[in-house]
Formats: sequence, C-alpha cells, structure tokens
Amino acid sequence: MDVLYFSPMLLGIFLLLAIAVSATALRFMVPNEQGPSFWMAGSWSLISGIGLFIGFIITKSPVLNVLGNAAQLAGEALFLLGIFRFMGRPLPWWTVPTSAGLIALVNTHYWLFDGNSDFLMGVYSTIAGLLPVQAIWLLLREKHDAQTRPAQLLVGVSLLIYSAVTLLRGYLGYHDWWHDQPYIQPYQSFSYLLPYNFAIPALVMGFVGCTLMTTQRVLARSRQLAEQLQELATRDSLTCILNRRAFHEHLVHEMARSQRYGTPLCLAMLDLDHFKQLNDRLGHQGGDHALQQFAWYFQEQARRTDIFARFGGEEFVLLMPQTALPEALRVLERLHSEASSQQHRYQEQGYQLHFSTGLAEQTADDTPDSLLKRADQALYAAKAAGRNHVQAWQSNP
Ligand code: GH3
Ligand code: MG
Ligand code: MG
Repeated sequence: MDVLYFSPMLLGIFLLLAIAVSATALRFMVPNEQGPSFWMAGSWSLISGIGLFIGFIITKSPVLNVLGNAAQLAGEALFLLGIFRFMGRPLPWWTVPTSAGLIALVNTHYWLFDGNSDFLMGVYSTIAGLLPVQAIWLLLREKHDAQTRPAQLLVGVSLLIYSAVTLLRGYLGYHDWWHDQPYIQPYQSFSYLLPYNFAIPALVMGFVGCTLMTTQRVLARSRQLAEQLQELATRDSLTCILNRRAFHEHLVHEMARSQRYGTPLCLAMLDLDHFKQLNDRLGHQGGDHALQQFAWYFQEQARRTDIFARFGGEEFVLLMPQTALPEALRVLERLHSEASSQQHRYQEQGYQLHFSTGLAEQTADDTPDSLLKRADQALYAAKAAGRNHVQAWQSNP
C-alpha cells in the first residue's frame, strides 16, 4: 500500500508544482490578461497547502494540518476566481474565506474534540467538490466568446470530472464515518488515491484548457490588431474611404484584369470647385465636414463594382471596371446633377457642393500613370471650360 500511495502522491504534488510554475510563466508572458494571476496565486497556495500537510505528517502538529487544509481550499477557490476574471464576470470573492474558514473550523474541532477523520475528509471533499460548480456552470453555458469557446468547454469538462471525483471521495468519507469503519491512516486509505490519481490529473487538464483559452484570446486580439493596422493603412482618416495608396493597388489590379480580358475600364478624377472659398466661408472644420459629406454621398451612390477613393486634398477618384466611356459619362452626369443639387448644412450655414470631373478610358498601351495623367488632363479641361461638369479626355482638346 505504501508503494501504491507514495508514487501517486509524489506524482500529484509534482503535477501541481508543474501547474504552479506554468501559471507563473503564463502570468508574466501575458501580463495584460488577468486570469493567469489568479491561476498562479491559486496553484502556489495549493502547493503550500500540500507542503504544510507534509509538514504535518512529519511533525504531527495539528496547526500544520489545519493551515494546510485551509491553504489548499483557498488555493482552489483562488484558481477558480481566475476563470471568472477571464470571462469578465464579477468575482465570487466570498468563496475564498468561506471555504478556508469552514475547513479550518471543522479541522480545529476535530483536533480539540477528538473528531472522526473520515468525517473531516468528507467535509473537506464536499467543499472542494462543490467549489467549482459555479465556474463549471458558467464555462459550459457561456457562448458569446466564440474564439475561446472550445477551450472553455475543455476547462468546464475537466472541472466537472474533478468535481465528481472529489465528491465521490467525500461520499466515501461520510460512508466510512457512518459505518464506523476502523481508523486507517489517511495516507493508506483508498479515498486518498482518488484525488492523486484522478482529481489532480483532471485539474491539470483544466489548467491546460485555461492556457489554451488565454492563447486563443491573445491570438484573436493580435489578429484584430493586424486588421486595424491594415484598415489604418488603406483608409483615409477624415472620410474613412480608401486612400490614395490603396487605390493605386486597385488601379494596377483592375487595369491588368481588363487588359487581360479585353473589357473596358474608365477612370474619373473629381475635384471640388472653388473649395478654397468654401473653406474660407465655413472654416477649416466646415471644409472637413463638406469633404465627408461629399465622400459619403459618392461612396453610397457609386456602383458596387466601382472603386472610389480620396486622392488627396479635395480630389477624389472613381474607377469604373467593365465600363466603356459612354456608360461612364452617363453615370457621372447623373451623379453630377444629383450631387450638385443637394443642400448641405454646417452650423446653420447652408452650402452646395459643385465639382468638376475628368474622365478617361483605358487604352491598350496605358499604364496606371498614363491613365491617371489623361484623367487629370480632362479634369483640367473641365475646370477651364467653366467647372461643374464632366469632361471626357480628348486627344486634341
Ligand atoms: P478649383 O475650383 O480650381 O479646384 O478651386 P479650389 O479652391 O478648389 O482650388 P484648389 O484645388 O487649389 O484648393 C483646394 C483647397 O482645398 C486648398 C486646401 O486648403 C483645401 N483642402 C485640401 N485638403 C483639405 C482638407 O483636408 N480639409 C479642408 N478643410 N480643406 C482642404
Ligand atoms: Mg478644387
Ligand atoms: Mg484641388
């Protein structure tokens, strides 16, 4: 029996030690996540509780026994608090003093009044087995965090196994007490094999789940960050539509595509008319407001396949794939008359937005730069011819 007992107990202790060391590493690797702090504190408290218990076996000091049991239960409760913290739930702090205090009372009573050790074990295991119930309920039911859900289930099931085994151990304690079984050293009883062979491995599995949960969350966060950076790099900060850099990529791509498939493609360059005057009248912030109104209107009105971007200042570009010049002219003229007739307001001041558009269709030997240049030339011609209209590029304007 000694052989059976000693090896699982040592193994169990070292498994817990491994949890404590890993939880500590996790705590310092992801300092922004708060769950790991509790897993670290809880597992070290468990280890120190076992250390005290070993001290009790060696010295037979009742105080060490009481402190050891209390530290173990407080450790378990702390560990579970980490799950609540991780899930963003209010922490049931009361579980820490309640569980440690209760076992300390029963344990002291046991020493003072010569109580029954099976009963004591029953009480300890009942508390230890019931402690995770709240967390299990939360882990198995909470569905809103899809990224960490698989690991949450792993933790929930592991804790369920831990709970069941521990409660079984408690039942055996009450059973032996009730039937007045002859006293055997706790470390020689079958009941003590249960926690070391089954409950602690389940706890290890639960901790692995906690680590996975944390990793999944960190990964999800860094993915989110990368997406935000990507968004920042491709969007104009004032209007949130595509910026010039991102537009250029689309332009290269769409031009190559229409050259390859022999489909038409048009590029329009738009510039607000007399925008300096509007800026003077409304102030720079009013000008910004006007730019936003214009950008959002066009973004909404542009066809799904068109690509609209802010080219810089009060200049915008509209790329129209699979569109020949006559159709592009029709679309732009419609947008022109609609956009120019709209009334806008900024701080009690009304204004209208007029703009000029230069339009060019891609030719077989066009490069992005040459196409842009021709659209710009057409825009210049539109400005020269009185503004507020669309001008298609002509070889001899
Ligand atoms: P035109 O009809 O010839 O285009 O006249 P314009 O007044 O629009 O002339 P121009 O293109 O030279 O001036 C553009 C003005 O747009 C100058 C600049 O102060 C203003 N502007 C450029 N970017 C912004 C911006 O982000 N916000 C605001 N409020 N104004 C801007
Ligand atoms: Mg202008
Ligand atoms: Mg301009």
